[in-house]
Amino acid sequence: MSTQPPATPPLSILMYHQIGRYPRPDAHRALFCHIDRFRAQLRYLSLAGFDVIGPAQARERLFEGAPLRRRSVVITVDDGYDDFREHAWPALQEHGFPATVYLVSSLIGKQAEWLSERPELPRLMDAQAVRQLHREGCNFGSHAVTHPRLSTLSAERQRREIFDSKASLEDLTGAAIDDFCYPYGDYSLRARDLVAEAGYRTATTCIRGAANFSDNPFELTRKAISYGDNVLGFAWKLHAKQARKGQAAVPDQGPI
Ligand SMILES: [Zn+2]
Repeated sequence: MSTQPPATPPLSILMYHQIGRYPRPDAHRALFCHIDRFRAQLRYLSLAGFDVIGPAQARERLFEGAPLRRRSVVITVDDGYDDFREHAWPALQEHGFPATVYLVSSLIGKQAEWLSERPELPRLMDAQAVRQLHREGCNFGSHAVTHPRLSTLSAERQRREIFDSKASLEDLTGAAIDDFCYPYGDYSLRARDLVAEAGYRTATTCIRGAANFSDNPFELTRKAISYGDNVLGFAWKLHAKQARKGQAAVPDQGPI
């Protein structure tokens, strides 16, 4: 794995979670972004001439020899919160920017049950919203069936989380689901190989850094955009913060 700055222009895969009108959070700041800041960040991408692309194009540029001439950005949003429909998607549409939202397939229209420590569980987009946004050009990916830590599961349960979420999201959208995101960024080499076997084309992790440092299309590195990132902080992450950092694949701990 290389830790030198990339020779080619940086390709940054940005990671967001909840985007809306949120007060400054006491904890988990990387899980929130105020919509006004999100709008300012999109304006910056537009003014600075970034090429905003989807995961499929990122794969082509990083691993399949497609030219990577301009600084490029992929916008990814984890979990499929209902605030995306209300706030982020209209802002993205104003710029004509693509985005990929990773959905938890058993929790469509329900609450983010895995966030059990929160006093109030955030709502997730329902089937009607997913279909509507899909028609409008939003790209959806899988974030597994139940948002588990994949490395803690048996091989059979890993397989179900990875394969069944793809099938049910394809039923829901009527289109291929090509992109996967490991919940909590937790994955084993077995999980990674199952993602490839299921027919996904890309998978994103929570390893930080420019995606140019990714080892393969199923272990893509990302940059988390935090509540505190004003436009200057955002620009710094895009232009200067490229080094790879964070946990890659972990050993399987689940029952055989
Ligand atoms: Zn998640």
